[in-house]
Amino acid sequence: MEKMLISGGNGFLGSHLAERAIMEGLKVTVLDDFSTSNRVNVPTEVTIIKERVEDISIQDHFEYIVHLAARPSPEDYILNPVETLMSNSIGTMKLLELAKRGSSRFVYTSSSEVYGNATMIPTPETYYGYVSSWGIRSCYDEGKRYSEALTMAYHRKFGLDTRIQRPFNVYGPRIRPDGLYGRVVPRFIQQALNGENITIHGDGKQTRSFLYVDDWVDATWRMITMDDLDGNILNIGSPDEITILELANLIVKKTNSPSKIVHVEKREDDPVRRSADITKAKNLLRWKPETNLDRGLQETIEWVRRDAM
Ligand code: UDP
Repeated sequence: MEKMLISGGNGFLGSHLAERAIMEGLKVTVLDDFSTSNRVNVPTEVTIIKERVEDISIQDHFEYIVHLAARPSPEDYILNPVETLMSNSIGTMKLLELAKRGSSRFVYTSSSEVYGNATMIPTPETYYGYVSSWGIRSCYDEGKRYSEALTMAYHRKFGLDTRIQRPFNVYGPRIRPDGLYGRVVPRFIQQALNGENITIHGDGKQTRSFLYVDDWVDATWRMITMDDLDGNILNIGSPDEITILELANLIVKKTNSPSKIVHVEKREDDPVRRSADITKAKNLLRWKPETNLDRGLQETIEWVRRDAM
């Protein structure tokens, strides 16, 4: 039985990937410190090691190592900048060493954040990024950029089979709506279902392109299992841009909510536009997003109503 280690495997993305891996007949170990995931999200077949990725002590051999552990919510990571950097510097190094010892395939989950406030929209993988190395988002952006560099270094120097993905604003069931962890989609849904004000940062003209979690799992599974992808970097996202104001209106409409849309202070260093050029993923993975925003939001609304209120 092939074995897979998923760091951050109890989180939103990791738990969906763990389910898929179990379904495909792999033996899955999840490494997670439960710092941002508040309950067990994975099936009972999964072995859970409760430990920070930078402190990893296991020496087992895995065919696949997927590094997802991170604190992706801006409001949370700006308050935890050192922890955020550690999991994506020392943590990445520890997992790469484990992969090198066991000749594992290493899949690093980077982020569209490596592009910073991109000036090329949709953004292709070849765009170098427009990123502050010291701003409040730098703990996340630069951790991801350093980890990409380190992953490529292990690939070039040791011939390690590595693949890097850059997901763009993935959403869906199990993404946390609460407090500082609430990314925009689940937060707006929760506000709408509670009849609370929908809090738009700034004028709401900033854009994002959202990807439904099932599409992310599908692309990621292909990245993990397909041959001849070593050394590649791929955007995993959607090119369909929507303004945050449009998103708020859509969620109000879909939930039939009495909520009012209010404008609050703009976030510092908030990227103005974000959209993925997925030509490369389409070609190499023979993949494209299948779930449109309308359907994905419906699924997510139902999940928030059922499980997260
Ligand atoms: N946003 C907002 N109100 C909120 C939360 C987020 O207007 O209550 C905006 C935020 O300023 C950003 C976008 O929604 O422009 C996406 O924010 P999110 O926290 O989901 O993550 P990001 O894509 O910035 O990493």
